Amino acid sequence: MQDRYSRQKLFTPIGEQGQQRLANKHVLIVGVGALGSAAAEALARAGVGTLTLIDRDFVEWSNLQRQQLYTEQDAQQKLPKVIAAKTRLQAINSTIQIHAHIADAYSEQLISLLDGVDIMIDATDNFDIRFMLNDVAQKYNIPWVYGSCVGSYGAYYTILPHSNPCLRCLLTIISNTGMTCDTVGIISPAVQLVAAYQVAEVLKYLVGDTDKLQKKYVMFDVWQNQHHAIAVEAMHNADCPSCGNAPSYPTLDYQNQTKLDVLCGRDAIQIRPAQPITYDLNQLAEQLRPHGDIQQNDYLLSCQAEDYRIVVFKDGRVVIHGVPTIAQAKSIYYRLLG
Ligand SMILES: [Zn+2]
Repeated sequence: MQDRYSRQKLFTPIGEQGQQRLANKHVLIVGVGALGSAAAEALARAGVGTLTLIDRDFVEWSNLQRQQLYTEQDAQQKLPKVIAAKTRLQAINSTIQIHAHIADAYSEQLISLLDGVDIMIDATDNFDIRFMLNDVAQKYNIPWVYGSCVGSYGAYYTILPHSNPCLRCLLTIISNTGMTCDTVGIISPAVQLVAAYQVAEVLKYLVGDTDKLQKKYVMFDVWQNQHHAIAVEAMHNADCPSCGNAPSYPTLDYQNQTKLDVLCGRDAIQIRPAQPITYDLNQLAEQLRPHGDIQQNDYLLSCQAEDYRIVVFKDGRVVIHGVPTIAQAKSIYYRLLG
């Protein structure tokens, strides 16, 4: 047992002292899909003392190709991801604490988990949650490492509140094309690379080697052999509602959160996005075609999948028919529309 960290302690920037620090640190991992699985496993093996995991989904067969903590048995049993993850992580390292929360990462929920947290990892799959994470980080002064990947593309960026520009300051360079893993796919090397970079950043921060943190916004494509690092220091916006001089933390305001309403008597759930979205329905039709039969008019598009029907209105409103719970509706919404 004493030797399990020997190779990590030999690595000078960590050393014996860094290893002891890790044992007393607490990382909150938001989402345990592909990125979250990879990050959680690496941090558990590295000996980070406490990991808190939050995720609302259960394990599905299509996850197994890249979500490294899960097995066929987990998918068969439709186990909640955080439960399957915790079991696997404790088998890997029984000496650390793991807190598992089966929940939607809405702001009040996230804030309730922040006690003692040193740094957060963004392992989510959508920008609504990322901007909320961004506001939570700024308001409660907790660093976080943004990460995203789709197809063969990945990006990451480390945000230290009151120190460098926040995610909202970088709106012009982050790419939110609406593409998701469910529409254009994803390969595991893209996931692994983003997670590896995120974990390296977290380890640097936790052992106190903050000078070595990546200051640039990094993006790459492992298939197209592209790698870019963008200097973003100058992008800090003094009027930024999240990190500027008079922050309002817009996503923490209930009015601005994505709204979900159960449409009574229609076996349907309506979702109204936090930010106005105007869909190009023709483009969306191509994107959704693999998922079911498409019907379309000038105002809306309907996609009849095997066990639900999703209707997307041009103004961004979405109604999902045939799903019993809000959580399932939300899951379908983010999977298909990003
Ligand atoms: Zn900002």
